Amino acid sequence: MPGVIYPYPQITVFNGDGGMEFPMIVNDGQFSNKINDVYVTTHEIAHMYFPFYGNK
Ligand SMILES: [Zn+2]
Repeated sequence: MPGVIYPYPQITVFNGDGGMEFPMIVNDGQFSNKINDVYVTTHEIAHMYFPFYGNK
């Protein structure tokens, strides 16, 4: 997954607020359960593969 090489040399994920991706940086809020933490983190990382496509 996702069958495309990660397009950047590194990634930094930090505990901030909400959920938003930037090239090589993910800002994630803290949720009340681990499932949501994992979902938001992977969701924002996935956006980096295809920036500006399918952003929801
Ligand atoms: Zn999204």
